[in-house]
Amino acid sequence: MGYLQRAQELYEQMVRDRRFLHQHPEVGMDLPETTGYVMERLAQMGYEPRRLGQGVTAQTQGPEGGKVFLLRADMDALPMREESGLPFASQRDCAHTCGHDMHTAMLLGAAQMLKEREAELKGTVKFMFQPGEEVLQGAKTMVEAGILENPPVDAAMGAHMIPGIPAGVGGYATGVVSASSDHLVIRIEGKGGHGAHPQAAVDPINIGAHIHLALQELISRETDPEETVVLTFGKFLGGEAANIIPSSVLLEGTLRTFNEGLRARLLERIQTVCACTAEAFQGKACLLVLSSTCALQMDKETVESVACGWKEEGLPMFFREARMSGSEDFSEVAAQVPSAFFVVGGGTAEDGCGVSLHHPKIRFREEALMAGAAAYAAGAAKWLERHSGDAV
Ligand SMILES: [Zn+2]
Ligand SMILES: [Zn+2]
Repeated sequence: MGYLQRAQELYEQMVRDRRFLHQHPEVGMDLPETTGYVMERLAQMGYEPRRLGQGVTAQTQGPEGGKVFLLRADMDALPMREESGLPFASQRDCAHTCGHDMHTAMLLGAAQMLKEREAELKGTVKFMFQPGEEVLQGAKTMVEAGILENPPVDAAMGAHMIPGIPAGVGGYATGVVSASSDHLVIRIEGKGGHGAHPQAAVDPINIGAHIHLALQELISRETDPEETVVLTFGKFLGGEAANIIPSSVLLEGTLRTFNEGLRARLLERIQTVCACTAEAFQGKACLLVLSSTCALQMDKETVESVACGWKEEGLPMFFREARMSGSEDFSEVAAQVPSAFFVVGGGTAEDGCGVSLHHPKIRFREEALMAGAAAYAAGAAKWLERHSGDAV
């Protein structure tokens, strides 16, 4: 029996898993109920799951050892109220509006299928259920905790739901597929005083305005026009009254690029421009990178191997050139080992699934769980088969 066929049999269980997770969303790095549920489900399948960092890992090994392929799903929700109108909608002040409940349920389905076919596996499949994708800390923390070691991981694969595409239709790409993201905080210190006596004060609002303009010039005057870069400051906080010069202001923004070299150079230049501009006006500015993740880079050979498994299963997975506009912290894994990533359609506007990720009314068609689970499992099994003759 193929993976897709078996996934069809497991559909109702995957829906139960998904709905439990959907009704019990948790945000950030600490997901006690979610990780508890995942551990329990994996144990029921015959795994020996363990906590790693604040996530969960488990593995299944074929009879003859071999290489190690990692499958990753994220499990965290978003701090927002759900307005989907679904009978199993979250009643909490957080909700699974990015579909991570779907990812976790799919990977549990894949884990069950791979365990059932353990005797055929040409190596080891390791599972990574991570917290904190939305805060861009989960993958980094699990990498630091050793998810890629013991046994060492040779290649990896992640996935994400996308709305607006027919349920279960998938896509994949090679090269850089999503942007890096750096959450920047710039604190500017001046010297407060009376608005009528600016000469006795150091106005941080003036410094902030100059810093904001100067930073935009880094894009227009120092960056190759062929590159895609965004530098947006969505928060500029300071001051209480019209006639008082405040002592400090705060700017918060985000830097996005598809090029790691450019990202490093811009972060350095932002630091310099902030410090020097503030100094020119007799103040001080410091830059803090609150959270960050690198661009997501796909490895051609890994993508070809897993795509070969999808083709054999008859899964509707299409090669797409498009880059994802958002960021994805699976990039922290992909920066360490050759990786692939796929997206799964969650239904079209006609299905009532037309709104974007992070929208309070988002819905996914649950049939997508079958294709997602089969894509995870068939991709991993095929990659191991194709690399079973390689030196370990
Ligand atoms: Zn998201
Ligand atoms: Zn997401």
